[in-house]
Amino acid sequence: MCRHLGYLGPPVPLRGFLFDLPHALATQAWAPRDMRGGGTINADGFGVGWYPPGADAPVRYRSSMPIWSDAALPALAAATSSGAILAAVRSATAGMPVTETAAAPFTDGKWLFSHNGVVRGWPGAIAGLAGDLPVEDLLTLDAPTDSAALWALVRAKLRAGEPPAKAVPAVVDEVLAVAPGSRLNLLLTDGTQMFATTAGHALSVCARDDAVLIASEPLDALPSWKSVPDGRLVVATASYWEIT
Ligand code: GLN
Repeated sequence: MCRHLGYLGPPVPLRGFLFDLPHALATQAWAPRDMRGGGTINADGFGVGWYPPGADAPVRYRSSMPIWSDAALPALAAATSSGAILAAVRSATAGMPVTETAAAPFTDGKWLFSHNGVVRGWPGAIAGLAGDLPVEDLLTLDAPTDSAALWALVRAKLRAGEPPAKAVPAVVDEVLAVAPGSRLNLLLTDGTQMFATTAGHALSVCARDDAVLIASEPLDALPSWKSVPDGRLVVATASYWEIT
């Protein structure tokens, strides 16, 4: 079940999180340590979104290929630095397509979003929730996947002006109510704040004074990694984080 990470802090090259740290995302793609609910490797695509210094909106690079097979990415990631990064590697849920557009992060304006998990009984289970969305939202889903639909549900609340700290856990609660047993680790950022839920999958946080890193699995052996209990919301900026 996919792995994702989010970083806020001083600008750093993307490459450390993607390739260089001992348990970087590329390692988690072929040797994840804590896959739950099926899946063994994360080879069905990847994506990375980052905010160039001074920019409001993120840049995104996605692919349907395994992250280790992209020959251009290591150099690109070494030459690109950012203080706000969201990246993911994907293990497609059975029956869902392996396409670039199904890989996180999903984006809208300033937002980047990722989902690690599965909606049980997809798609019927959430037909009622999706039915409340404007038809344009359904027609413009990135891909016919549970993750893209979850992004449409979160995005609708954000567009309606709901604060992200309410919108993200509200979608988790609403989906769990109609699709019990779903795994819904969501990760959202606007480049200054991050919101991450734990619902059925692992998540850890590593913080120092001026940086916060949230990841499905710790990227190194530093003792400062803290595991987030299930059923919680992590809210973070570069200099602050809390589990609520
Ligand atoms: N169900 C989602 C997909 O297929 C996410 C998969 C995952 O977390 N492994 O894209």
